[in-house]
Amino acid sequence: MQRRYDWIVVGAGIIGSLTAWRLCQAHLRVALVDAGPPGQKASGAAAGILSPSAEVLAPGAMASLARASLHRYPDTVAELVDDAGMDVAYEMTGVVQTAWTDEEVTELRTRWEWQRDWGVRWVEGREAERLTSGDWPVQAVIVAENEGQVHPPQLVAAAVRAGAHRGVARFFGKPARLVVEGSRAVGVSLPDETLWADGGIIVATGAWSGLLFQDLGLHLPVEPVRGQIASFTVEVPWLRRILFHGHTYAVPKRDGRLVIGATEDSVGFDDRVTAAGLTRLGRILENLRLPLDELHLERIWAGLRPRSADGLPVLGPWPGYAGLYLATGHFRNGVLLAPITADVVTDWVLGRKSTVDLTPFAPGRFAALP
Ligand SMILES: Cc1cc2nc3c(=O)[nH]c(=O)nc-3n(C[C@H](O)[C@H](O)[C@H](O)COP(=O)(O)OP(=O)(O)OC[C@H]3O[C@@H](n4cnc5c(N)ncnc54)[C@H](O)[C@@H]3O)c2cc1C
Repeated sequence: MQRRYDWIVVGAGIIGSLTAWRLCQAHLRVALVDAGPPGQKASGAAAGILSPSAEVLAPGAMASLARASLHRYPDTVAELVDDAGMDVAYEMTGVVQTAWTDEEVTELRTRWEWQRDWGVRWVEGREAERLTSGDWPVQAVIVAENEGQVHPPQLVAAAVRAGAHRGVARFFGKPARLVVEGSRAVGVSLPDETLWADGGIIVATGAWSGLLFQDLGLHLPVEPVRGQIASFTVEVPWLRRILFHGHTYAVPKRDGRLVIGATEDSVGFDDRVTAAGLTRLGRILENLRLPLDELHLERIWAGLRPRSADGLPVLGPWPGYAGLYLATGHFRNGVLLAPITADVVTDWVLGRKSTVDLTPFAPGRFAALP
């Protein structure tokens, strides 16, 4: 018996699992495939921060995409929790970006100038110190009370469960290869069978997306960037908001843990924790000037972020192949960008015009590369 679906989503990280659920909500026959268990790669490793103000460094298309996704979070989570019957620890904790030196103040103030209509505040002096609830030499901060966090492993689990509830067919522990006939993507081959797609394939395989394309003799420049990250238990939680200093962060979790991150290592597909990573995390702890004696190490782990050649997500149809759609390259912000990604894929599948400008993210920008 041939198994046929309208759409096959390859990759059950946060991008693929949320997308499969959305497609099934639209009454399509959907299969979700993963080489391993769902949510065990980048999505399971993420800190869960939802912060356009700290993560987007320039105005433009990426800022709009990140903001649009943040705005979709409350409704997405409400629907997901309803469908899945489980919580995802979504909270508007607030995010504080700190400047400690004159140079950092200038840099942060420049960022705030173009972010000021996002509802973020610029605060200096004593009030800035109070907002960080710590003992830091903070000169100024950007405060985003309308940003926060989620627990990524629970978010993926909820998306998979909600999808199953809606009828998503799941094939886990099965590495997939794309099957094309002429210039059409028609299915995926698994170790024990082939699944066929009448509509097409959504490639959501994160850092491994380039490998799927390599199989077809196509070059998709998406590379893994390892992030090493650690969690600590604290006896008396004192940090209320997510704290950023530069690219490093401390995230207070609902259960009292503090997550500290993260490194950026270009080491291919190696997702092991290293001694160099431990050292770097130690420097991050010092850099954040956390009370080291009060932090008890809980866990250190690592994951591979998918980074495209220009650092932007890759969203849209691959030119030259009918039915081949990419939803990858989310780099440091896949958790933040998951709701908008799932929605734009669904819009595209249903032939609806997207409400956001996707031109800068079109896969065609890489299609001509050797
Ligand atoms: C340490 C760290 C901290 C982070 N913190 C944050 C954060 O705070 N906020 C945020 O927004 N983002 C964060 N990120 C980034 C975020 O985790 C990623 O952008 C996001 O998880 C990417 O999701 P994905 O579904 O595309 O990829 P993944 O979660 O990696 O999922 C891809 C899936 O594809 C599967 N796959 C691969 N090849 C095949 C194949 N051939 N066949 C079938 N399946 C296949 C894999 O098994 C995997 O399950 C962080 C990342 C790291 C590493």
